[in-house]
Amino acid sequence: MRLLIMGPPGSGKGTQATLIKQAYQIPHISTGEMFRAAIQTGSALGVEAKKYIDHGELVPDDITIEIVKNRITEKDCHHGFLLDGFPRTLPQAVFLDRLLEKCRLQLDAVLNLEMDEEALVKRILGRRVCSNCGATYHVESIPSQVAGICDVCGGKLVMRKDDTEETIRLRLRIYRENTYPLMEYYAKKDLIKTVDGSCDIQTSFQAVVQILGGINDHHKK
Ligand code: AMP
Repeated sequence: MRLLIMGPPGSGKGTQATLIKQAYQIPHISTGEMFRAAIQTGSALGVEAKKYIDHGELVPDDITIEIVKNRITEKDCHHGFLLDGFPRTLPQAVFLDRLLEKCRLQLDAVLNLEMDEEALVKRILGRRVCSNCGATYHVESIPSQVAGICDVCGGKLVMRKDDTEETIRLRLRIYRENTYPLMEYYAKKDLIKTVDGSCDIQTSFQAVVQILGGINDHHKK
């Protein structure tokens, strides 16, 4: 299966993507995660990307396209992948189409997580991430057993640097202006499958499973 998962920041893309990866055994490619990993290692890519990410801005298309091109052509992606946070602009979507066409491949679906903006702001402000292993929590809905400490590795839980209210509002605006128009692009290709992102994690995931079940059945025919 070749899938995209889209939705505004905080709609639960990363959480649903992790569950999909585990259930369907396809690589989860998150451009945000790739950038954060590059920032941690201090690579040239990381230094460049940080300038944009810390302010909630999009990393320029040429840089983003390059990392996706390299990753998506790796061997583990030959039988499918789940792209999370990419594409976010029209040039990125066009690039992805061309790359897939060249390999004679097609997307199966674009999962669109929908959620109200004010609820998103509240959700993002409560988000905590392990500074060591990247596991995600929420102070209200997914608290760690010991406050501030990761259940998985004992690392310290922190807020993402781009999770301040000012930055969140900017990221939501950027999503509305740059990324939301892609819905029309993919609607024309009849690929959009909308999921309510405001429910609890398992309810949203059940909706995802139902959609993906339909796609799998289609593949078997
Ligand atoms: P995310 O973890 O998906 O919310 O991404 C975090 C940040 O990484 C975004 O706010 C952008 O600054 C950057 N980023 C991730 N994916 C992309 C993309 N496809 N295009 C441009 N910037 C991106």
